[in-house]
Formats: sequence, structure tokens, C-alpha cells
Amino acid sequence: MPVYKAPLRDMKFLINDVFDYPGHYQTLASGENATPDIVDAILTECGRFSEEVLSPLYQSGDEEGCRLENGDVITPKGYKDAYNQYVMGGWQGLSAPEEYGGQGLPASMGLFKQEMMGTANWSFSMYPGLSIGAMNTIFLHGTEDQKQTYLVPLTEGRWGGTMCLTEPQCGTDLGQVKTKAEPQADGSYRLTGTKIFISSGEHDLTENIVHVVLARLPDAPKGTRGISLFIVPKFLPTDDGAVGERNAVNCGALERKWASKPRPPA
Ligand SMILES: Cc1cc2nc3c(=O)[nH]c(=O)nc-3n(C[C@H](O)[C@H](O)[C@H](O)COP(=O)(O)OP(=O)(O)OC[C@H]3O[C@@H](n4cnc5c(N)ncnc54)[C@H](O)[C@@H]3O)c2cc1C
Repeated sequence: MPVYKAPLRDMKFLINDVFDYPGHYQTLASGENATPDIVDAILTECGRFSEEVLSPLYQSGDEEGCRLENGDVITPKGYKDAYNQYVMGGWQGLSAPEEYGGQGLPASMGLFKQEMMGTANWSFSMYPGLSIGAMNTIFLHGTEDQKQTYLVPLTEGRWGGTMCLTEPQCGTDLGQVKTKAEPQADGSYRLTGTKIFISSGEHDLTENIVHVVLARLPDAPKGTRGISLFIVPKFLPTDDGAVGERNAVNCGALERKWASKPRPPA
């Protein structure tokens, strides 16, 4: 079985001796808490988690794959436990803003984390990785109300996130997006369409999944200029931020990928 060894010595050499990250961090608002001893402790713990928890699941997870049962996706053995440890460790919020529950550390700390966890187990890292894409999108483009509702549980890792761009007729050329968004009387939008290849689009790791979806309003111009972004939660949040009614978004199939062992048809 392949074994991952975190390159901590190389990383610390680059951080401290080649690029002077400690000096750089002192110039950042987010660097106030990134003191050398904190950075060292975080990298060491991230290396341990990657080596001891994530790496051992890489091959077994690849061989087992995900299963689709009655619309629910079941992740491979060990993924849920590893994800819970990831959440308990506060890893999802490492570089996220403190005002939404993150630790507010510099973005480069998040990159060191992603480098180690992604190399130890890329398949696992896709789940929290796509969530970070959704978090960044909501942070940059969401209303304050949307940030309050979605960013806190996403930052904690209790909820997961996705990016829903690709459709059967449209990949690289997103100007071909057909998914329709129709305004409703209550201020919400009704979306109709099919997305494919959505990484972590459905799974059993989190209590809710927040899809960031590309769609087109009825009067939208053709091409990429006519695309809008919508938040489509698997479960509609209640007023107090809990998980409410099931939304009408479903996983129709799992993508069949190359696997080290052939899997039976779904
Ligand atoms: C592992 C994986 C995870 C993914 N996760 C997601 C996800 O989370 N969310 C999501 O929305 N999508 C996801 N995708 C889909 C991904 O975004 C698309 O595969 C990608 O946009 C390319 O689209 P396509 O596969 O339809 O290829 P095509 O668009 O058909 O492209 C095929 C080839 O043609 C080339 N090509 C296309 N147009 C032109 C052009 N005009 N000129 C010259 N060359 C061109 C491309 O470079 C490529 O080599 C994922 C894909 C993979 C493989």
C-alpha cells in the first residue's frame, strides 16, 4: 500500500529559510496569530492527520468507491469518521474569516493544509475542497444574510458545498448553460436543469449540502454574460439556521470512472 510522508522538513525550510514567511505574516492583518510556534504546531498536526488518517483510506476508498442507494450517496468505509475528525480539528475554517467562525489565518496556511491533505488522499480532499470554493464564492458575492446563513455552517464543516457549472451539453464553454431560473412570488427562484460531473454533489459526510449553481434568468442575454449564480441548499435552512425541509434537488447517477478494480453496474 502506498504510504504518505508529509514533507514537513522541506516545507519548514521553505517557510523559514527561503521565503521568510514569519516576516511576511507580520505585515498581514491575518498574520497576527500566525506566530512561528503556531505555524509549526499546525503544520505538524496537519502532517500527522494526513499520514495517519487520510493516507490509509486512499487506496481502500478508491477500490470501494461511492454507492448510490435510493438517491443517497454512501461514501467509502472510513470517510465519515475521517471527515468528523477533520471537522473536530477545525481544519475547514483554518483560513476562513473569523467573523464567520473561521480561524482567520493567512490563506497560505490553508494552501499548506490542502497540499498535504490533497497529496495524502485526493479523493477525500475533494469534499472539503469544493466546499471552500463555495465558501469563497458566497463570501465574495453573497448578501450579508446569505453569509450569516451559509458561511458559518460551511466554515465549521457541518455543511458541505459544491460548484455546479457543467451540463451534458456544456463544459468548457459555459456560455451554453441551459439551466433555467424563474423568479417566484416569494422572492425565491425555481431552478430547472441537469448538471453533471459535480464533485461531492451528494454524500453522507455533512448534514446539508450547499450547491452554488450557474443558471440563466428568463430575460438573460446569450453567452456567459447571461449567467447568474444561485444558492441551492439540499435542505432549506430554517430561520434559526437549522436544517429544514428537503429541497427538490436530487442526484440521478454516479459517474463511472476508471477504478483499480472493476465495480458492478449501479
Ligand atoms: C474530476 C472532475 C471533477 C469535476 N468536478 C466538477 C464540479 O465539481 N463541478 C462542475 O461543474 N464540473 C466539474 N467537472 C467538469 C469539468 O468542469 C468539465 O469536464 C470541464 O469543464 C470540461 O468540459 P467537458 O468535459 O465537457 O469537455 P469539453 O468542453 O467538451 O472539452 C473537451 C476538449 O476540447 C477542448 N476544447 C473545448 N472547447 C474548445 C475550444 N473552443 N477551442 C479549443 N479547444 C476546446 C478542451 O480543452 C478539452 O481538451 C469535473 C470534471 C472532472 C474530470
